[in-house]
Amino acid sequence: MQPNYLIVGSGLSALVFGALMANSGKKVQLLEAHEHPGGFGHTFELAKKYRFNAQLHYVWDCGEGQTVNRVLKKLGLDQEVTFERYDPDGFDHMRMPGYKLNMPSDPDELVRRLSALFPDNSKQIRRFVDAVERTGAGMKKLSPPIDPMMLVKHPVEVIGTAQYLNSTLQDVFDKFQLPQAAQTLLALQWPDFLLPPNQLSFYAWVALFRGYQSGAFYATQHFEHVINALVNVIESHGGQVLLSHKVTRFKLTERTVTGVEATDLVTQKTHQFTGDIVICNIDPQQAAKMIGENMFSKTVRRKLDYEYSASNFMAYCVVKDLDMRDYGFGKWNLFHTGHQSLNEAFSQMYEHNDFSNPSFAITTPTLLTDANRDCPEDCQVVELLTVANYGYFKALKARDRKAYYQKKQEILDSILDVIEERYVPNFREHMVFHVTGSPTTNERYCLCPQGNSYGSKLTPKNMGLGRLNHQASLNHFYFCNASSGYPGFAPTVWTGALLYQRLSGDVILGDR
Ligand SMILES: Cc1cc2nc3c(=O)[nH]c(=O)nc-3n(C[C@H](O)[C@H](O)[C@H](O)COP(=O)(O)OP(=O)(O)OC[C@H]3O[C@@H](n4cnc5c(N)ncnc54)[C@H](O)[C@@H]3O)c2cc1C
Repeated sequence: MQPNYLIVGSGLSALVFGALMANSGKKVQLLEAHEHPGGFGHTFELAKKYRFNAQLHYVWDCGEGQTVNRVLKKLGLDQEVTFERYDPDGFDHMRMPGYKLNMPSDPDELVRRLSALFPDNSKQIRRFVDAVERTGAGMKKLSPPIDPMMLVKHPVEVIGTAQYLNSTLQDVFDKFQLPQAAQTLLALQWPDFLLPPNQLSFYAWVALFRGYQSGAFYATQHFEHVINALVNVIESHGGQVLLSHKVTRFKLTERTVTGVEATDLVTQKTHQFTGDIVICNIDPQQAAKMIGENMFSKTVRRKLDYEYSASNFMAYCVVKDLDMRDYGFGKWNLFHTGHQSLNEAFSQMYEHNDFSNPSFAITTPTLLTDANRDCPEDCQVVELLTVANYGYFKALKARDRKAYYQKKQEILDSILDVIEERYVPNFREHMVFHVTGSPTTNERYCLCPQGNSYGSKLTPKNMGLGRLNHQASLNHFYFCNASSGYPGFAPTVWTGALLYQRLSGDVILGDR
C-alpha cells in the first residue's frame, strides 16, 4: 500500500510533520539522502568517541505550553524529550574591546545593564527595548494562521508592528539613535542569522532575540535524542525512514505530483516511490528546478525567487584536562567581535575573506547538560562558528585543495589566537581533536544549495508578505522546510506542526 505521505528529506520540519501524521494513524515514508536523519540537526561521531551536532547550539520555545512542548505533548514525548535552560541572567555573553554585556532574560534588566554602560543614552535604550517588546507582541498576532478578529482587537500593536515590515535592524537602531557600541552588543548574536544589522530583517531579529529572552534551551540528552525520538514515533507507527536515499526526480501526471525516483546510495540502485501526497523538505528552489519552474504558478515562482542565506565556517573541537568553567564559560554562549561595527566585521569576513580580526561564537555543549554523551569524562566539546563565503570556498576547493585546507586552518588559527589572548590561555595545548566545516561541507552533507545555512536570506524582502509558504501550486504537493516556514529548531518544529494542522484539521498550535 502506498503511503499517505511520501516525504522527501528528514530535516526537523519533515520529522515533526511525519511524526504527527504517523501518530494520527497515517502511513508515512521519508526518503533521506544522508546516512543520518535530521538535516542540519543531525549528529555525527568522529574518532569513535566524540559526538557533534552538526548545527544546533541553542533553541527557544521549549518551555511549558510553548510550540515545541505542545508538539512533544501531542506525540507523548514531553517526559522523554526534555530541555535544560541556559542561564536566564546571561544566556549570551557579548564581548568586544572595552565592553561586556551578559544578556539577561528580563527586558528591564537589559535596560539597566545597557544604561549603566551608556548612561547618557538611557532614554533611547528604554525606548528601543520597549519597541522590541511591542513589535514582538504584534508579530505574534500577525504570524500565520492569521485570525482577523485578533487584528481587529489589537489595532495599535498590529499597526505599530507593521511599520517595521521593510526595516533592517540597522534602520531601527538608527531610528532610536543608539550608540554604536550598544548596537554592537545587542546584535552580537549575528551568527544566529549570518547577517549583519544593515541587512538583517528587524522582524527576524526580534523573533529570535525575544525567543531566547523568554528561554534559551539545550536538549537534556543532546539533540541526537530529539531526532531519534521523532524517528521512533514514525517507525513505531508503521512508518519508514529510508536513509541514504537521494531523490533525483519528482514524478508528475500533468500538474499532480505522484511520487519520486530515488537512488539508494549504498547499492546505487534506482527505486520508484509513490504517495497520496508528496511533502518536500528539500530546498524549494532546488525542487522547483527538478520539477521544471514553468509548472508552478506565477505567484509561487515569484516567491521562489529568493536569495540564499550566507554559509558558515564551523570548528568542532575537543579539549582535554581543561574545564572551560574555570575560564568563565557555562550555561551560555560567548559572542566576540574585535570590530566596533558588525557591518564592517561581516563585510571583511564575508566579502573580503579576511579573518584577521574575526567575529565569532563559542558554544560549549558539554557544559549545558549533565548527560555526558558527547565525549569522554576528561574532555569537553567546544564549537566555534562564523560566516564564510560559499563562492570563494567552492572555487578554492575546485582550484587548489591544499589552499582550501589552508584557508580553513587560517580561519581556525585566527579565532584560536583571539581565544588564547582574551579567554583561555593555552587553549591549543589542551585541544586533542578538531575538525572544521566550510560552506562546501554544508552542501555535501546537508545538500543545501550554495551551502546556505538558514534557507532564504533573512532580509526584510524575504521576511515580508511575499514569503514562500507551504503552498506549491501543484496538486498533492507541499513545501515543508525553513524557507517555506522559518529557520531554527523551534521555527521548523512550528513549520512541520502548522502543515500537519492545515492538512489534518487537528489544531495543536493553539492561541497566541
Ligand atoms: C551554522 C548553523 C547553525 C545553526 N544553529 C542553530 C541553533 O543554534 N539553533 C536553532 O534553533 N537553529 C539553528 N540552525 C538552524 C536549523 O538547524 C535549521 O533551520 C533547521 O534544522 C532546518 O530544518 P529543515 O526542516 O529546513 O531541513 P534541513 O535541515 O535543511 O534538512 C533537509 C534535508 O533534506 C535532505 N535532502 C536534500 N536533498 C535531498 C534529496 N535530493 N533527496 C533526499 N534527501 C534530500 C538533506 O540531506 C537534509 O537532511 C543553524 C543552522 C546552521 C547552518
